[in-house]
Amino acid sequence: AARNPGQPEFLQAVTEVMESLWPFIEKNPKYADNALLERLVEPERIIQFRVSWMDDKGQVQVNRGFRIQHSMAIGPYKGGLRFHPSVNQSVLKFLAFEQTFKNALTTLPMGGGKGGSDFDPKGKSPAEVMRFCQAFIQELFRHVGPDTDVPAGDIGVGGREVGFMAGMYKKLSNNAACVFTGKGLTFGGSLIRPEATGYGTVYFAQEMLATRGQTFEGKTVSVSGSGNVAQYAVEKAMQLGAKVVSVSDSSGTVYDKDGFTTEKLAILMDIKNHKYGRVNEYAQLVGAEFFAGQTPWHIKVDVALPCATQNELNLDDAKTLIANGVLCVAEGANMPSTIEAAKAFEAAGVLYAPGKASNAGGVATSGLEMSQNAARLSWPAEEVDARLLQIMQGIHAACVKHGKRDNGSVSYIDGANIAGFVKVAEAMQAQGVI
Ligand code: NDP
Repeated sequence: AARNPGQPEFLQAVTEVMESLWPFIEKNPKYADNALLERLVEPERIIQFRVSWMDDKGQVQVNRGFRIQHSMAIGPYKGGLRFHPSVNQSVLKFLAFEQTFKNALTTLPMGGGKGGSDFDPKGKSPAEVMRFCQAFIQELFRHVGPDTDVPAGDIGVGGREVGFMAGMYKKLSNNAACVFTGKGLTFGGSLIRPEATGYGTVYFAQEMLATRGQTFEGKTVSVSGSGNVAQYAVEKAMQLGAKVVSVSDSSGTVYDKDGFTTEKLAILMDIKNHKYGRVNEYAQLVGAEFFAGQTPWHIKVDVALPCATQNELNLDDAKTLIANGVLCVAEGANMPSTIEAAKAFEAAGVLYAPGKASNAGGVATSGLEMSQNAARLSWPAEEVDARLLQIMQGIHAACVKHGKRDNGSVSYIDGANIAGFVKVAEAMQAQGVI
């Protein structure tokens, strides 16, 4: 803590991992040789830079840009870019740290990184967003490359922004190699990449439910967020027969007791992805209830899928969900549950999956996009989806293997942390002290 003052999110992520690893390392001390843990909590490189750009009124705006290159032990740095006013070094260090374990869990050759800016896309015109993206890449381009660092989207960065950044990268570098994933289909994107994080989260939850002889059929499901991850979590849960009763954004929660339909989801996607609108506009259009300023966790459900942002589900929320009989919580977002909430779920016997396991389908499919680009091929949607399902099943199996307790129950927190760690640690030890 003394070395990372003012970085609560980073300390939270490290604490959660170390609590899982400690008993494992006591039994397997070789993994801690050569100050491995001390090295693992230190990003290999942090780049921070000025992003100046001109708004529509001709005023110059100044934002802060970052890239955290956390670990190259098992492949090029890989992880998204986030544009949100809350972005700072602590948030990005936690995300890059988690990303390193998550990417290891996918079994694909990707290291861990994360980046972004405190730029707020809300209320900006498309031209302003483009100028910002171009200004951001004018600096970042010299630090990334297909075998060095491959960024992607995250909060506030979707297909549109990736397109602007990938375009500027090409212009500056005169090189069309795969330096971004989440690209549009006309310039190297992969089918199923937009769907992958949300679908993958639901595939993971499906595996968890199967351990109790259950499926999504007939289950009531709450989803938080209404962005990329949330939308496709809603879609897949619906396809598997669930009734999805909520979505949210930072203004509040939509509660629809009748559940989503394909038509309603299309309306939500149009509002969010094309009009950059708010969920209360959606609630009005479909005649659903809107709880201003609230999260969805007070709603009684069988399965909860937090898909918005970090620390959006606290201990009180966890207690309410548990009291309402929740069976499974699978995180589509990164670290949406506080440590206390996660512990409460495990203590109550709820099937609980931390984001680094359950949302790894996004980056896994980015890995598949890199493979397709390298081979100059594009695979059909069915093939990518089948690989995604297989990867999520593999991650679930790895969590069960490493997270099984003496009483036969499974800690997905321990399982994900230990399985990811073992791969990264073995790669680090084999490559010497660097
Ligand atoms: P989007 O920008 O598409 O959507 C983000 C959603 O979360 C919006 O509904 C947004 O609401 C809400 N949100 C963001 N910040 C806050 C906040 N501080 N308080 C309340 N609500 C908030 O992002 P994604 O769907 O891509 O990402 C969502 C989560 O999933 C993040 O934690 C991200 O790191 C994680 N993730 C994403 C992956 C991907 O492939 N995209 C891969 C793996 C994890 P509003 O519009 O009001 O801000």
